[in-house]
Amino acid sequence: MADQDKPLVNQEALEAEKPKRNRQDDEQPLVLPGIHRYQFFTNLKDRMLTKNLNRLAMAGIATATGGLVAKPIMNGVGETIYCLEDRACYATLEHCAVGIKYQAELTVATRVADYERFIRNGGLKCIGCGNCVPFCTLRLDLPHVYKRMQEMTMEALKENKVPKQVIAYALKEGLIGAEYIETVSNWYQGKS
Ligand code: SF4
Repeated sequence: MADQDKPLVNQEALEAEKPKRNRQDDEQPLVLPGIHRYQFFTNLKDRMLTKNLNRLAMAGIATATGGLVAKPIMNGVGETIYCLEDRACYATLEHCAVGIKYQAELTVATRVADYERFIRNGGLKCIGCGNCVPFCTLRLDLPHVYKRMQEMTMEALKENKVPKQVIAYALKEGLIGAEYIETVSNWYQGKS
């Protein structure tokens, strides 16, 4: 073949150089704000072998998701569902009136009614100053959320749903605010 008849571009070589479209798990971002909790739903390899098994799995997922949404709504903290978990609120830092460092921990603890996580992160110290709100991407009403969780935590305490060692730790570390210190101390000493 004469030189002028040869194609200028080697199509086969170009095809071989094209990136493969297979997405590997270890190439995926570890954290995508707001969706990582649901990421496994979309992984094809996690789907079941038959359609009926798949439907059963989807029914289970729907029930679990319903619970995830229904629980905070029933507890009066429905807006925690919207939390993106992007941790923008961590920038509150010295602006927090009582030195709470990890507001997102409080928000997530409230959503799932995790009293221990709430107490350990200083939730019972919050005075509702609202200084963390401007740092929240969605401007959630965090003082309302934390106040409601404080009430739920105190109810849980009275019902002995909070481990005593968590309260011992909180008292030792100064994690109980003035509003609750007397009640919590009395509970710890068995006076209530
Ligand atoms: S509302 Fe509570 S968590 Fe937010 S800055 Fe004020 S004291 Fe800190």
